Amino acid sequence: MTAKIISGTVVAAEIRAEVAEKTKKLLAQKRITPGLAVVLVGEDPASVSYVTGKAKACQEVGVHEETIRLPADTPESQVLALVEKLNRDSKFHGILVQLPLPKQINESKVVNAIIPQKDVDGFHPVNVGKLLMGEPFFMPCTPHGVQQMLVRSGYDPSGKHVVVCGRSNIVGKPVAAILMQKQPGANATVTICHTGTKNLPHYTRQADILIAAMGRPNAITAEMVKDGVVVIDVGVNRVEDKTKKSGFRLVGDVDFEAVKEKAAAITPVPGGVGPMTITMLLVNTVRAAEIAAGITV
Ligand code: NAP
Repeated sequence: MTAKIISGTVVAAEIRAEVAEKTKKLLAQKRITPGLAVVLVGEDPASVSYVTGKAKACQEVGVHEETIRLPADTPESQVLALVEKLNRDSKFHGILVQLPLPKQINESKVVNAIIPQKDVDGFHPVNVGKLLMGEPFFMPCTPHGVQQMLVRSGYDPSGKHVVVCGRSNIVGKPVAAILMQKQPGANATVTICHTGTKNLPHYTRQADILIAAMGRPNAITAEMVKDGVVVIDVGVNRVEDKTKKSGFRLVGDVDFEAVKEKAAAITPVPGGVGPMTITMLLVNTVRAAEIAAGITV
């Protein structure tokens, strides 16, 4: 069996077209342009590249985006004051503080300072709690993107055994929380694995749907999956590649070439989950604007 390739680029384009349509409608009917404020502290190259990607994506779907750049040595109090100001600014429906932050700034304090109604990253404890309780408001972007990829590609998780490798607060835990809910597009039996899991292959081999979010290149091998598994590879890892100008290439957590021979479907890296993350940020931002406009969704 050679797997169907689930392209995040294709699914993301479909969702972005829907977002652009909603943005047009908001402007025509309510004279509202959804607004996103992005706060970037320092010049970490990966963060700069993510922020640039977010700005471009916003522009493409008609979301007003402003990136506020602060020097790396900005004190915590100044970042908190900026967040407070953005909380009150009605032209921004969403606020995103790019993580990681320099070490003098407490990330939790900053995330907690964003009002839940503008927390389009879905990281505020109120939004995390709501998700767990089955009353999601803003869902975190990468896990929500994983769910959308599954559902829109015809792999409804309902009744399936989903095995998640990784338990981080940004991917593993929320993806498990989303897929275990008694909701359409979820309702799965979920197992979460981590470094404390003894005999990881014992669990991964039981997966109907395997979600790898470990940050370990090629950690999931063909021997660790059953025939017909659906694999979502969240991992993004740099491995040395002297044939590339940059000196590296990106790979996921899954041995793609070997696993695709056994899987029913699999996401590539790059071009898999990556494009979905920014797309779900756009979804959340437009939804925030719709809620602010009194359109209940
Ligand atoms: P993280 O915070 O480092 O968490 C990694 C998780 O994997 C931890 O829970 C860890 O277990 C577990 N783990 C690590 N090695 C393992 C092993 N050998 N066996 C079983 N479990 C193992 O990483 P993250 O932020 O969740 O990100 C995971 C990956 O996804 C990274 O490659 C990241 O770059 C990528 N990512 C991609 C996107 C995207 O948009 N495509 C977004 C976010 C993240 P412990 O808890 O026991 O340490």
